[in-house]
Amino acid sequence: MDELKLKTTDGGMTAVSPDGLAALQSNLRGEVITAFHESYDSLRSVWNGLIDKKPGALIRCTGVADVMAAVRFARQHRLSVFVRGGGHNVAGACLADNGLTLDLSRMRRVQVDPQRRTALVQGGARLGDLDHETQAFGLAAPVGVVSATGVAGLTLHGGIGWLLRKHGLSIDNLLSVEIVTSDGQLKKADHHQNADLFWAVRGGGGNFGVVTSFEFQLHPVGPQVWMSAPIYPLEHAHEVIPFFRDYLAQAPDELMGLGVFWSAPEVPEVPQRWHGAPVVILLSCYTGPFDRGEEIIAPLRRIGGAVADLSGPMRWTDMQKFLDADYPDGAFYYWKSIYLDRLDDEVIAVLSGHTAARPSPQSSIDVWTLGRAMERVKPSETPFYKRDAPYLIGIEANWQNRADADANIAWARSVFEDMKPFTRGGDYLNFPGFFEDRERLLRGAYGPNLERLRVIKAQYDPTNIFPGALTIAPAA
Ligand SMILES: Cc1cc2nc3c(=O)[nH]c(=O)nc-3n(C[C@H](O)[C@H](O)[C@H](O)COP(=O)(O)OP(=O)(O)OC[C@H]3O[C@@H](n4cnc5c(N)ncnc54)[C@H](O)[C@@H]3O)c2cc1C
Repeated sequence: MDELKLKTTDGGMTAVSPDGLAALQSNLRGEVITAFHESYDSLRSVWNGLIDKKPGALIRCTGVADVMAAVRFARQHRLSVFVRGGGHNVAGACLADNGLTLDLSRMRRVQVDPQRRTALVQGGARLGDLDHETQAFGLAAPVGVVSATGVAGLTLHGGIGWLLRKHGLSIDNLLSVEIVTSDGQLKKADHHQNADLFWAVRGGGGNFGVVTSFEFQLHPVGPQVWMSAPIYPLEHAHEVIPFFRDYLAQAPDELMGLGVFWSAPEVPEVPQRWHGAPVVILLSCYTGPFDRGEEIIAPLRRIGGAVADLSGPMRWTDMQKFLDADYPDGAFYYWKSIYLDRLDDEVIAVLSGHTAARPSPQSSIDVWTLGRAMERVKPSETPFYKRDAPYLIGIEANWQNRADADANIAWARSVFEDMKPFTRGGDYLNFPGFFEDRERLLRGAYGPNLERLRVIKAQYDPTNIFPGALTIAPAA
């Protein structure tokens, strides 16, 4: 190995000698990968094709011992540490030019305890790993809706998905974590031990260390659930979305809604003349008693004028993969989001206008229905402060040619700007654009919890070895 230039915690660079790297390698079972390695380019690529960062080194950790050795090495050389869980952060936050990335993609083990209804999930696991293991016992953890997403990144900033109204955010179902902190030690954090650290990781992102395992509370779900997916012409949005809004407002917690302003999918169930046309899809998932599901989702399918209807029963594991094909690796993405308090005619008109004007047919605007279990947790109970908004609008610019980046990013930003009059603020850090405007994002996501996060950061990572995706500056 040659001498390496790596990014330090003060924003500068330091040279690490070949002997230093060899000493690190001798403490690992995994591998140190640098630019000279044949796998460097494939290992530095992430889900979002827009991201082209060149890390100084990637350490492919095989377990806790490797993570501890890597963090001690980083501490010795005053290096910043970036962490790759599932590699699905839209901003590519697990990499930095000349940065040191701990790649946990070989740490995907999930162990279920069916008696206690808990799962121990390693820091590099994907949602699909978790769903596969838990469903063997008829159980599930509340996570997100695309199976390739990393459990770690999603959970550390909240985690919204089909079980949100019934069981809350992913962090609300976390029982403990094991985490390697900046001193290179492994700590367990839960409600009793290192309780402040446990509070901080439930929303504070990767700022406090490398989480080597998450322990989740599981819930009985499936194996079959009901999905609604009637597809209505975009021109019907002014009728369909208010119905969706009002129906979800009185529906049981087991029904979670995700209204999508999108394009009609090119599948046999959709008449060909509609393929690619702008539509509104009333996606929802009912996870309550199976024999009630058809009746519960029926009103969403009966509004009238549907172009097609993809609704039906399916396995929970298939529900969790239903959207997978729409998010291929290596395509181009830029996502923002904004909480809304109302979903009235004025909002619907703005959303419809932007849907019609999308530069890319893959792009969508998603209306997540929040509340219920998410809102029943007090804003101070975890760092995740914004719990009272009834809707989160996800603005997804998704496109296929790199050259179209400017137009698509501009579109997403314009939807965000036009939604501002309808929000009381707050930010969801899992759909944060490229973390532009960091101070606003910190205040918006954490509100008054930010000061406590800064104090805990000062205690566990005073020199900011772990910048996370959005750095929380240690308190002075
Ligand atoms: C296709 C797709 C679908 C999505 N669907 C949802 C959804 O339904 N609900 C939702 O809430 N979000 C969703 N998201 C957003 C997703 O939660 C974030 O993009 C998240 O950052 C992905 O986590 P990751 O581990 O894959 O990312 P990575 O890029 O690997 O990591 C992101 C950041 O998390 C931190 N991190 C990762 N692993 C660890 C670890 N083990 N220890 C400490 N820090 C760590 C690091 O700071 C890292 O920079 C989706 C994203 C995509 C791309």
